Formats: sequence, structure tokens, C-alpha cells
Amino acid sequence: MNYLIETHAHIYDEQFDADRDLMIQRAFDTGIKQIWMPNCDHETIPKMLALEAQYPKQCLPMMGIHPCYIKEDFREELKIAEDWLARRDFIMIGEIGLDYYWDLTFTAEQEEAFLFQLGLAKKYQLPVCIHSRNSKDNAHNAIIRCCELIEAFGWKELRGIFHCFSGTQEEAQRVTDLNFLLGIGGVATFKNGGLDKFLPETDLRHLVLETDAPYLAPVPHRGKRNEVFYIDLVAHRIAELKNIPVSEVKSRTTENALKLINL
Ligand SMILES: [Zn+2]
Repeated sequence: MNYLIETHAHIYDEQFDADRDLMIQRAFDTGIKQIWMPNCDHETIPKMLALEAQYPKQCLPMMGIHPCYIKEDFREELKIAEDWLARRDFIMIGEIGLDYYWDLTFTAEQEEAFLFQLGLAKKYQLPVCIHSRNSKDNAHNAIIRCCELIEAFGWKELRGIFHCFSGTQEEAQRVTDLNFLLGIGGVATFKNGGLDKFLPETDLRHLVLETDAPYLAPVPHRGKRNEVFYIDLVAHRIAELKNIPVSEVKSRTTENALKLINL
């Protein structure tokens, strides 16, 4: 397979309003065949579905409520996601999970929403896209907690991606033991990113590529707006860390991604 799958990009984000179509075209010109779009909350759904209508079979939507959007009204948000899933197909439930980075006010609600959405994954037999971000001091570990909740949920066939994975070797092991994939993005190119500690030894069968655009641009664009075709830089970095041809990184991660959503 000589093409790439972008497994996580917020291409509906307003940061792309001025040049979205050019940005998407650059991605296709770079050999990216599909762009998977994680949902955030009820406001992002129309923009996301409009892009799917414009680029059918290329820009593919997920459905779910992002943990950073779990607030007092989270049950209404979940109901909207649930209704959409009853109405039509989506490739995954996402993005869902736990975010301890900004504050811990809604931790209990985030857990309830996460478990509820794992239930939707089971109901519709869909994989999940997981957002797991630790607190700034690392005292609260979202990756481990997500793993614990997945284990407690207890549906052995559950599959998915820990998106933008930037944990330790031990955490990577925990995730792959659950048969989940590690979504590798721009952090792999950061000097202090820490992915060099485990990527050389991690089998390619556990990896998929992503950018999380417009966030987390890889080096040398770090700190600027990220965009989808920079995924090539991520593939090259993985190839460098594993000392293998970049073509192998691309074909294997594409295979993994297609297998996950049964295409
Ligand atoms: Zn995201």
C-alpha cells in the first residue's frame, strides 16, 4: 500500500477557514488517501459532516464527545452523539477519554461519559479513538485510568487508538496489551517528546499515523499551525528511530488503520 491514512485531524477547525481546501489538496497530493475526523461536541458536527459531503470516502467522520467538552450539560451532549449514531454510519466512536491537563473539575463526569461511549462502541460494534492527557505534574495519569476503565468495561473485542500517544514504555505496553493501537504524531519529532524511549522496540503492527492538526505540529514546524501533509515528517521520524525504510512505516501503518475500521 503506497498511501497514507491520517487517523486524527480536526480539519474543520477555524484555523483552516482561510485555506482549508488547499490544505486538504496538499494532503491528497502527498499520498494521503483518507483523513479521519474526530468529533469534539455538538458544534463541530455540522462542519465535520459538511467536509464529509465535500470529500466522500476521503474525509471520514467519527462520532463522540471529547473529554474537554464534558461539562455540566454533558448528558445533553451525549444524547446528541447517541442520536447521530442511531441515524447513520460513522467509522469510530471519538474522540472520547479523560483529560486531566487543564483541571480536574469534571473528572467524575468524564469517566461517566467515557464509559457511556464505550457502551455505544459495543452497541454499534465500532472502534474507539481515545484522548488521554495527564495532569501537568503527571500526578494524575489519564492513560492508565483509561486502560483501567476499558478493563472494567470488560468487552474483550473492543479495539481502538490511543491517539497522540506520548506516554512511557510501560504505558505503551499496557495499551498494546489491550490490543489497542498507538496513534503517533508530531510529538515523535520533539526533542523532549520521549517517544524515542520506546518506538525503536515497538512493533509496527501497534502503530498508526496522525497529526492532530491544527495542534502539535512536528519539527521543524513546532509551535505553528499543524496541517495534514506534515504526517510525512512523522513517518520519516518513525523510520529513523526504527532504522527501517519509510515505505515500510507507511504501508504497515496504513494496513493497521484499514484493518481497524474494516475497510
Ligand atoms: Zn484531537
